[in-house]
Amino acid sequence: MRGGDGFDAVVVGSGPNGLVGALTLAAAGRRVLVVEAGERFGGGLRTEELTLPGHRHDVCAAVLPLALASPAFRELALEVDFRHPPVPAAHPLDDGPAVLIHREAGRTAAGLGADGVAWLETVGATARAGFPLIDTLLAPLGVPQAPLSAVRFGPQALLPVSVLARAFRTAGARAALAGMAAHSMLDLRSPLSSGYGLVLAALAHLVGWPVVRGGSQGLADAMVSRLRGLGGELVSGTRIGDLRELPRAEIVLLDVTPRQFLAMAGPRLPAGYRRRLERFRYGPGVFKMDWALAGPVPWRDAAVRDAGTVHLGGTLEEIALSEAEVAAGRHPRRPYVLLVQPGAADASRAPAGGHTLWAYCHVPNGSPLDMSERIETQIERFAPGFRDLVLARAGRGPAELERHNANLVGGDIGAGLAGLGQFVRPVLSPRPWRTPLRGVYLCSASTPPGSGVHGMGGRQAARLALASH
Ligand SMILES: Cc1cc2nc3c(=O)[nH]c(=O)nc-3n(C[C@H](O)[C@H](O)[C@H](O)COP(=O)(O)OP(=O)(O)OC[C@H]3O[C@@H](n4cnc5c(N)ncnc54)[C@H](O)[C@@H]3O)c2cc1C
Repeated sequence: MRGGDGFDAVVVGSGPNGLVGALTLAAAGRRVLVVEAGERFGGGLRTEELTLPGHRHDVCAAVLPLALASPAFRELALEVDFRHPPVPAAHPLDDGPAVLIHREAGRTAAGLGADGVAWLETVGATARAGFPLIDTLLAPLGVPQAPLSAVRFGPQALLPVSVLARAFRTAGARAALAGMAAHSMLDLRSPLSSGYGLVLAALAHLVGWPVVRGGSQGLADAMVSRLRGLGGELVSGTRIGDLRELPRAEIVLLDVTPRQFLAMAGPRLPAGYRRRLERFRYGPGVFKMDWALAGPVPWRDAAVRDAGTVHLGGTLEEIALSEAEVAAGRHPRRPYVLLVQPGAADASRAPAGGHTLWAYCHVPNGSPLDMSERIETQIERFAPGFRDLVLARAGRGPAELERHNANLVGGDIGAGLAGLGQFVRPVLSPRPWRTPLRGVYLCSASTPPGSGVHGMGGRQAARLALASH
């Protein structure tokens, strides 16, 4: 491996958690080396021309509210060109207009008619609790910033969506809540599924749901450039199979999931800890699609054109069925589809007049089934004529995703199941980032607070390492 000895810290993996961890260590004066398996840095933040020349697609993360809300990124204050679509999210329905989630909670509530008050009392209340609540949730084992808000939020968050939805009377509001909560990849009958839905919807009101101009890669590039400015070094194209391949360093942060850590260090880990990692549960996978389009998606409700993110799947009952099928290891005939139209906020993603489109649906972990047809049928359902605009398409199932990034085990984009049983992960401990190996810390999304581009796993692991070494 290039990049000799003389480092205080080595970080394996350059996802948002690895890079935030590296920046935290470098800012504290440590000499840091980042080692990345891929040819480019950024992990889940990479942007590539997946379809046609000049069309820039986010391979993984596209919409980054957590990056705006996260204490780690607020503190770094990187120069990143975040762009907001006119409407953060939309949820089209078969009968009647789409539900629109606006930046303003009041405007959203006004569109929900009879459920306006219920929206303000659930999602609106979460948004009103503001950054102190978000900081508490993103640093779940630290000192709560907002204990009172957390106590108020907790009972609603713990409910399955199927139960919290009883607070709503209209099909539109119930569907909108389900569409938000289904990001978690949980069966909507499971506890805590409401918590994910409430927080995501509240972030639309609190900070918006932005994309990065030119693609999420811009956020990774800003971190890499800051790290180099602090004297950090990075090597790409180097996959670590065993910890003994790393140069000697007092601190090692691993931006990897438990399965890779077991492969890198297995025999040297105490048997009890190893068994706990072996019991770590991965979640469902995704089938991801990207398109180059000749024009904007022809939504039946034209208001959806202004939305950055679109939730497809119809009613709460339909989305709940789709997610229950996936949880039971089956492929839904009409999958819940999460779709992003970056062009609503950023015209730079395609040559003039053209558009890019990004979407995925959930599938059982490791599924080999091509879901392209079912995903496109869901889009056509709400946007007749969509297929006529397709210039090129690219689909990737779990195996291809895992080849792109070894952290996507079986296509699981959450780095582990998000349920209550794994809220503290990968092992139940007050300091789950620490491993039994001296100086070695896990920092990936398999540690609290879990999945998403917030960098908090990296910050927590790096701070723990700095306090101990
Ligand atoms: C299709 C998809 C869509 C998503 N959409 C969103 C979204 O819109 N918004 C959002 O907030 N989040 C989204 N996410 C989730 C988000 O991308 C992840 O939660 C986040 O990237 C996790 O960051 P991380 O640093 O823990 O790991 P990653 O970003 O996965 O980075 C891990 C890095 O480690 C490297 N690595 C792994 N093993 C080794 C090894 N042995 N040696 C060297 N390097 C190694 C990998 O190559 C990779 O670069 C999405 C994910 C996917 C896959």
